[in-house]
Amino acid sequence: METSRWRPFGSPSFRQQLTTLTLLAGVIAAGLTAAGMIAYEVVWFQGQLRSSSSSIADILGSNISAALAFDTRSDVSKSLAALVGERSVVRASVFNAQKHFVAGYARKDQPAAVTNPVSPEEAVQQSSGLIVVRPILLDHEVVGYLTVESDLSILHERVAVYSSITVLFALLSLTIAYAASRRMQTWISAPLLQLEAAARQVSSHRDYSIRVEKGGEDELGAVMVAFNEMLHEIQVRDKRLSDSAQNLESEVLARTRALIEANARLSRAKEKAEAAATAKGEFLATMSHEVRTPMNAVIGFTGLLLETNLSAQQRDWVETVRGSGEALLAILNDILDFSRAEAGRLGLEKIPFAPEAVVEEAIDLVGERARRKGLRIGFYPTPAVPPLVRGDPGRLRQVLLNLISNAVKFTEVGEIRVRADVPSGDGAATIIRFDVIDTGIGIPIGAQKSIFDAFTQADSSTTRRFGGTGLGLAICRRLVEAMGGEIGLSSQPGKGSNFWFAVPLAQVQTENETASEFSGKRVLIVDEDEPERALLQRRLERIGVTVDSADNVDALAQGDACGGGGEHGFDVVLLGTKHARIEGISLAKALHSDSRLGNARLIMMAHDGVLTPEDLVEAGVSASLLKPVLLTHLLKALQRTLPEDSATSPGKGAQPAAPAEAKNTPPLSILVAEDNLINQKVLKSQLWRMGYQAAFVQNGREAVEAAAGRQFDIILMDCQMPEMDGFEAARQIRKAHSQTTIVAITANAMPRDRDLCLASGMDDYLAKPIQPSDLARVLNNVAVRAEAPSTLAAPTGPVPTEPVHASIK
Ligand code: ADP
Repeated sequence: METSRWRPFGSPSFRQQLTTLTLLAGVIAAGLTAAGMIAYEVVWFQGQLRSSSSSIADILGSNISAALAFDTRSDVSKSLAALVGERSVVRASVFNAQKHFVAGYARKDQPAAVTNPVSPEEAVQQSSGLIVVRPILLDHEVVGYLTVESDLSILHERVAVYSSITVLFALLSLTIAYAASRRMQTWISAPLLQLEAAARQVSSHRDYSIRVEKGGEDELGAVMVAFNEMLHEIQVRDKRLSDSAQNLESEVLARTRALIEANARLSRAKEKAEAAATAKGEFLATMSHEVRTPMNAVIGFTGLLLETNLSAQQRDWVETVRGSGEALLAILNDILDFSRAEAGRLGLEKIPFAPEAVVEEAIDLVGERARRKGLRIGFYPTPAVPPLVRGDPGRLRQVLLNLISNAVKFTEVGEIRVRADVPSGDGAATIIRFDVIDTGIGIPIGAQKSIFDAFTQADSSTTRRFGGTGLGLAICRRLVEAMGGEIGLSSQPGKGSNFWFAVPLAQVQTENETASEFSGKRVLIVDEDEPERALLQRRLERIGVTVDSADNVDALAQGDACGGGGEHGFDVVLLGTKHARIEGISLAKALHSDSRLGNARLIMMAHDGVLTPEDLVEAGVSASLLKPVLLTHLLKALQRTLPEDSATSPGKGAQPAAPAEAKNTPPLSILVAEDNLINQKVLKSQLWRMGYQAAFVQNGREAVEAAAGRQFDIILMDCQMPEMDGFEAARQIRKAHSQTTIVAITANAMPRDRDLCLASGMDDYLAKPIQPSDLARVLNNVAVRAEAPSTLAAPTGPVPTEPVHASIK
């Protein structure tokens, strides 16, 4: 803490301070000595004056006593005159016994003698001097009085002399002290000044190499040593600091250089990788195109071949060829999908769709294989699953199909249950969880972790036994993750697996959930299996059907007048049974004889298979379904079963139209633009099988010319053709014919291909190899539109807008 000091002369230098201190000490010493001596002199002199004045008075008194007694004034005066020799006596007066003035003496420099007598006292001390009064005795008798007055003039003179001598000596001693202090200062101040100069230099130049010269062994010497040591310490630390700063700098430089180099390497690698990715993409697109063209022929022609009369051996061979072709196509699609996923180009759609319908489509696609293996396959959604959501139905179906296909593939006995539930969440962030549970071979614990990695299989023997690429689950995982969800499994080897995935699917609010073509119909479900009965009832009620259910036929009594959909009767009775042929037929017959059935139609649902057309006629059953029943199958059966007048407009709420039958194919004018002769042949045959005929052209230019000369209902347009490609041809045709449906038929199966097609004015897109059912759907849509454009309503089910490559294994 800084203390403020009183400094009347500013900040004198150390040297000045030292000089002042020395001189002050000298002055004080000289002053004190002089004061002591003068005080002593004064005291001594006053004593002297008193005794000499008393002696003078005594001698003078005895001298003048006789003269006074005889009153001889002149003698008295003479005696007094003798005082001239006494310099200190100022005045002297003689009084008689009556105290009358007799004679006096006064020094030359003094006024006349004092005539007033004073009290006879020993001596009166005054500030200016001393008065001695004496009685004059003669023979022991007082004859008069004498006063002698002395002053201090001699004392003053002596004090003046002493003072002068003291000042002189003081000056002398001060001079000597000053000279001595100057000399001593060099001893004391020189090291201090040296220290100060060194400190100043260090602070101004930051030069810690400076050292002060050690003076002596005293305290100052120790201070200087400490100062030097301190500088040394600082210098060492400074050096270390600058060394490490230098090191740091060079390290930063080196690292920056390495970073720049690494960056350059990285950007070169990135460019290379991008070029490689582009090349890979192009290669995949080309490969896909090139492989799809011959595959189109293989699958198309074997399909056609299978519809001809073949021997059992030939049928087996052709089926093998077709199966192998489809397997090859599935692998191709898997690889394409995987590479798309890897490149982050999955391109998800966001359209409204019914999630339950998508699950049933996936089950339907593998249903036949499951049935052939004797496996039951059922769908069990909970009521929480929303009827309509927004998302990508194609990709959802692809994931489900992969999981259900695997379940069928790896299960020999038992059943496959597909569940859908909403574990949590509501409103916009509905998360739907799908479970595919099988009773198959299961997956060893060790293999479960990596099962979603690409090209991974639970054990190598799997490939030998079941085939497959090990890509399906990897694609599933990427698809689910792209949808913002997660996928997982639990499995017990030998007991079965449960593959699940949960994806967020925004719920779409529907104005009237229950409105459908079946609204208001009355259905009775008779089935012993309570859970299945309840599930079916709930799902039918959701689409507006009025449902009653019972575990045996006695329930018919409820629908008293089962008279063909009357106000109280049932329109349809769904009869559930274990064995379609054994107990089903007899039960149906018995029911027919029961008047309570009235006009209600009978639909049989059995575990062990469906009835043949002959059995259906024999038992009087309108349709036969396999249990567990899929709603889509049941609705189709209801559509066929219910009398024409009782169904509402066709198409509303229906699944995509079934392929047209050759015999009732509506007339359509079709143009096919395809340069590949094999593909032309395949298409020609497929169209022929469906009862259509088409005009064929070789390229885009010819297509434009053909379209100019005639109005076609539909043009099937290949994309890559010589002279003019399909895109340009579509653009030109679209300008003149806004009504003509133009559908791309192409082996370009990448998502951007579809966008290119739509951008050039085409309406739809079919990927090669063309599935007859897809072709039929497209043609049927055009036919329906041509026949009754005003009654056509948008289907509520999903219409695939891009080729979905779900491999059915
Ligand atoms: P793959 O084309 O080989 O079937 P996937 O990725 O679909 O490829 O499956 C990888 C492996 O996971 C399969 O080879 C099989 O070993 C195992 N796997 C998948 N699903 C099941 C299942 N439901 N039951 C038993 N193993 C399964």
